[in-house]
Amino acid sequence: MRAVTGYATTGPHGPLRPIQFTRRALRPDDVAVRVTHVGVCHSDLHAVEGIAPGAPRLVPGHEFVGEVTEVGAEVTRFQVGDAVAVGNIVDSCGECENCLAHREPYCREFPTLTYGGVDRRDGTPTQGAYSTGYVVRDAFVHDLPAGLDPAATAPLMCAGVTTWSPLSRAGVGPGTQVGVVGLGGLGHLAVKFAVALGARVTVFTTSAAKADDARALGAHDVVLSTDPGAMAAVAGRLDFVLDTASGAHDLAPYLAALRIDGTLCVLGLPEQYVVSPMSLLGRSLTVSGSGGTAETQEMLDFCGAHGLTADVEVLPIDEVNTAFERLARNDVRYRFVLAVAS
Ligand code: NAP
Ligand code: ZN
Repeated sequence: MRAVTGYATTGPHGPLRPIQFTRRALRPDDVAVRVTHVGVCHSDLHAVEGIAPGAPRLVPGHEFVGEVTEVGAEVTRFQVGDAVAVGNIVDSCGECENCLAHREPYCREFPTLTYGGVDRRDGTPTQGAYSTGYVVRDAFVHDLPAGLDPAATAPLMCAGVTTWSPLSRAGVGPGTQVGVVGLGGLGHLAVKFAVALGARVTVFTTSAAKADDARALGAHDVVLSTDPGAMAAVAGRLDFVLDTASGAHDLAPYLAALRIDGTLCVLGLPEQYVVSPMSLLGRSLTVSGSGGTAETQEMLDFCGAHGLTADVEVLPIDEVNTAFERLARNDVRYRFVLAVAS
């Protein structure tokens, strides 16, 4: 067992506070990682806001990079000192058809989440990477691509793969008209990916002040989604819309923006959405989702080759509550990353 320091919930809407806890002793297929940078995902904020009174304390954090400090007896892929990255799942059954096809996020038994999950072997709750160290099965650890800034790479492990996966599976490329809803952590990476893949990109934002940034990221068009006239002007134009907005909103205008056979992929996690079946039938539309990390290595290779990383604001981990407060009021350009002192 190794002692680590982490930042844990203190109850609904309470601040995160430092705690000491222990990580498990290394199993033969485990890797111990000293966390150097961990991204602040809006899912972390949803998780903390959803904490029930009296619930066990929770350490968030599911997109991180760091350095290997120890490896289990059977680990051959990693050595002490390697720079590595980990995302939002840390184990899966390994036996169902989805795991055998290396699509572990869709494990039939549900994968083990990096935090808020239950370890499959000892039944203990998983605690996340807002902490000085993590212990993880080697199969869920990735090499950090050479040449990329570690802090700006951490968000690729959740925000990156979550947006990469649906864009790549949809075959987005030259000739595709892509819409991205919400210019936040996920959204700004979706814009970078879609532009790098050669698509024509329209950003839908509620923040007029982000229009110049959207264009600087490579977007061809920017639509203020609160302007009904501007929304009506894009009706029937797009092939694929990736909706990354974190708050509840009407999906109808984005379905209207699609061409026949278009797809609206909804990534945000407000409590629920309402979709009218008639709005889908009328133009053969699809509504889809994404679970995350299946194509993590493919995404990291693409980012390494294109020098593509997140735009980050790095804060020391003891300012995590400031990061949460600012994220909650949509004040981040475009991902907070917490620097963890060793
Ligand atoms: P974020 O950085 O806070 O960005 C979300 C953006 O959504 C905001 O910057 C804002 O963009 C827009 N927005 C916020 N509230 C809105 C509302 N009520 N109506 C319309 N637009 C709104 O969050 P994130 O970390 O990118 O995460 C985005 C969502 O994806 C969260 O719900 C998160 O939990 C979820 N998520 C899902 C997965 C998955 O596997 N499916 C993985 C990671 C995260 P503008 O200012 O441009 O309007
Ligand atoms: Zn996330």
